[in-house]
Amino acid sequence: MRLTLFFIVMLLFPSCKGVSQERTMTNDHTNNPHYSRTDTTHLHVSDAEWKKILPADLYAVAREQATERAFTGQYWDADTKGTYYCAVCGNTLFKSDAKFASSCGWPSFFEAIRPNSVIYRDDNSHGMHRTEVLCGRCESHLGHIFDDGPPPSYKRFCMNSISLDFEPGIASK
Ligand code: FE
Repeated sequence: MRLTLFFIVMLLFPSCKGVSQERTMTNDHTNNPHYSRTDTTHLHVSDAEWKKILPADLYAVAREQATERAFTGQYWDADTKGTYYCAVCGNTLFKSDAKFASSCGWPSFFEAIRPNSVIYRDDNSHGMHRTEVLCGRCESHLGHIFDDGPPPSYKRFCMNSISLDFEPGIASK
């Protein structure tokens, strides 16, 4: 009788199966044919295609320049050793060694893993002049860069957590 009841509940509420699953450190990219941590070929993918591939919250930040609310992202206060990748395309972006504790509420780095890991663009939105930081491979929005970081660069890459995938371990070169 109990077993029958269990199966009835599972049939009626199949999503219950996922409730106890722990959130993994990286997102699920099984439906993203452009995601690769080894292929550095520059991508030319339309927003219409990204919209079909990416979760809505990632699409809003990565392709529509939205900003996640401060102190809400997964990595703003993380200090685990490892490597941060672009959540859209898998491009290697930052080492945890370049991450520093910032009170701004977003994950902050003083340098990118390679100079061409990211690209920069003037951003004059919201009545401000800022420098936008985009992924060097897929040109997705990551965040902005400011001149108030620590040495040696004195830069602060102020990133959206949702735009990053983190892999714990020894940081990639
Ligand atoms: Fe990317």
